[in-house]
Amino acid sequence: MAGAPTGQTILVLGGGIGGVVTANRLRRKLDRRHRVVLVDRDPTFSFAASYLWVMTGKRTPRQVTRPLQGLTRRGIEVVIGDIESIEPRSRTATVDGRELTADHLVIALGAEQVPQIIPGMVEAGETFATLPGARRLGIELDAIDHGRILVVTAGPVYRCPAAPYEAAFLIDAHLRSRGVRDRVEVAVHAAEPMPMGVAGANVAEAVKGLLAARGISYRPNHQIASADTGQAVFYDGQTEAFDLLAYMPPIAAPAVIARSALAGPGGWIEVDRETLWTGYENVYAIGDNVQMLLGIGKPLPRAGIFAHSQGKVVADAIVSSITGRPSTARFDARGGCFIEVGDGRAGYGSGDFYAEPSPSIRVRPPARRWHLGKVAFEQEVMRRWL
Ligand SMILES: Cc1cc2nc3c(=O)[nH]c(=O)nc-3n(C[C@H](O)[C@H](O)[C@H](O)COP(=O)(O)OP(=O)(O)OC[C@H]3O[C@@H](n4cnc5c(N)ncnc54)[C@H](O)[C@@H]3O)c2cc1C
Repeated sequence: MAGAPTGQTILVLGGGIGGVVTANRLRRKLDRRHRVVLVDRDPTFSFAASYLWVMTGKRTPRQVTRPLQGLTRRGIEVVIGDIESIEPRSRTATVDGRELTADHLVIALGAEQVPQIIPGMVEAGETFATLPGARRLGIELDAIDHGRILVVTAGPVYRCPAAPYEAAFLIDAHLRSRGVRDRVEVAVHAAEPMPMGVAGANVAEAVKGLLAARGISYRPNHQIASADTGQAVFYDGQTEAFDLLAYMPPIAAPAVIARSALAGPGGWIEVDRETLWTGYENVYAIGDNVQMLLGIGKPLPRAGIFAHSQGKVVADAIVSSITGRPSTARFDARGGCFIEVGDGRAGYGSGDFYAEPSPSIRVRPPARRWHLGKVAFEQEVMRRWL
């Protein structure tokens, strides 16, 4: 390989979707003189987009998880440990007290879910946004035979704008399949003004129509402030009773980023929107830990499909800088979001999130093919990259 005369080290911080895609692509495109090192505190990769299927019993936890150590078979070095600090100028990360320094650094640490900022919610409810939570919710959904399920988005910004609405649809379908839906009310109370607002009014109206058609009541701009056994209190002082509370947690920037020189507004990383470059030499950031504000003032949705495509762009840029071969890869924010509605069907909203003055998104009504599209994404991540 032409270019760098000596081997270089690329450090990928975070072994979620973005980090795993980046590390794999680097490993495939660089010869073995160059080291690809991936660091994560969790030895197990788990695919969050499948948690809702774990909740409804369509997947086992084993089907949606893989040991990260498996990547060593492909020539990727895996370090399991807590990243305590990041110094972008020297491209150094401290992992469990040990300093790792690299020629190229990719930061893909995701977003921290912080349900504990809503007093009582963790104790009174369950979340479908973690694997253990999705399992526990599934057990409760199999047991409930009357009463009221309250689905809440506990803050206006969270991972995957579709997920809480999909959760409500899949809960509805699961209760129908159990023959108890007529005795269990399902209500969604959302912190945000409309479902999936970043994708525009047509997507929001489509989702609202799907909720109404399934008898799921919907209350936007209604943010939970606290919860206790059987009762949620909202910021407007109103209360809602529930037999089961299912929540989408709010998010915060990972603490290790928020206290680093990389932290921008809110502790998130700001990057060049096409190259994902942080402004520090050979340091890139991708995925949920990036805050990319769109022209409409809302952030690009935090979604695995974007972490995935950003990982490819960054890997190609690093390969280009090492080998001297030109790369034209640019992140264009084109992508789509599947919305599972149950019964093996999903809707699909896709388009150009960088379009001006607002994202240009086309909505496709629920069909079997979009459900299969989501399964294909799951299989690509689990089989191709892990
Ligand atoms: C319920 C649910 C459903 C979803 N459905 C979809 C979907 O259908 N389609 C879609 O595109 N997206 C979906 N998403 C969103 C998607 O999962 C995320 O956007 C995606 O995981 C982001 O990838 P990432 O690599 O940026 O971060 P992550 O996948 O979150 O990975 C970050 C990694 O960094 C590690 N880490 C963090 N801090 C440290 C530290 N200090 N030290 C060591 N390691 C650390 C974490 O352990 C983690 O493994 C869903 C999310 C949820 C919660």
